[in-house]
Amino acid sequence: MNIYISCDMEGVDGIVTEKQSSPTGPFYAFAREQITEEVNAAAQGAFDAGATSVLVNDSHWDMTNLLPEKLDPRIEYITGSAKPLSMMQGVDTGIDGVFFIGYHSRAGTWNSTIVHTFSGCVSQFKINGKVYGETGLNAMIAGCFGVPVVMISGDQHVAEEAREYLPWIQTAVVKQGQSAYCARHLSVANARELIRKTAAEAVKIIPEACAYLPSAPYRLEVQYLQAGQADRASMMPGSMRLDGTTLAFDTADYLQAWFAFYTMTALASQAPMV
Ligand SMILES: [Zn+2]
Repeated sequence: MNIYISCDMEGVDGIVTEKQSSPTGPFYAFAREQITEEVNAAAQGAFDAGATSVLVNDSHWDMTNLLPEKLDPRIEYITGSAKPLSMMQGVDTGIDGVFFIGYHSRAGTWNSTIVHTFSGCVSQFKINGKVYGETGLNAMIAGCFGVPVVMISGDQHVAEEAREYLPWIQTAVVKQGQSAYCARHLSVANARELIRKTAAEAVKIIPEACAYLPSAPYRLEVQYLQAGQADRASMMPGSMRLDGTTLAFDTADYLQAWFAFYTMTALASQAPMV
């Protein structure tokens, strides 16, 4: 049983501000320790329930957050960027189940901490008219390889977001979002224990879980915050400008939609903020 973990940071217990989650923030050392120990807790639960391998992909910011010397020695890990599948680099058909650790809600979610969708310049990401955040966007990448997502940790809103389309998912709610930069948290120890227990349950439900991928064809629609960002994103061949801030891209292959989004957003993020 091979488990894959994509770990972000904004949904980790105790994290509410970029002063913690940014590599240049004054409290980043605390955040690195926390993300590493939450990953260890998830891996422990997975191994206890019969997993034979755990591969972790560091998926936050520049993707060099995990403290390698503190990781459970049974874990293999991916660090660094850029990587073609980004937060899902390393997922393939040999993986049996995916965990999302430290995940956050999609851009615009009310009372949820440090919400965004992949980049601060994206205000909305849609596939076939449905709005998704990183949870859905990445679940569909796993879906391309036939792999189900079986666990998520973060606040109550990201858990609810995941259940919208992954009804079998096991959720570890380590904090209750109270505003964009405020949450009520479990203690560090209790959050890790909850993640460990939830991970063990998640391994057990793999046989009943489904890979998530809506049927083709796909219309990707991305709304950027500013027209100048959409101007740059529109340089992506095949993209269509729908209005001042929104672009569309049609394809029969979800991975192509992903690469279009990744490329357009890389272009958009080069625009000067005004
Ligand atoms: Zn994120």
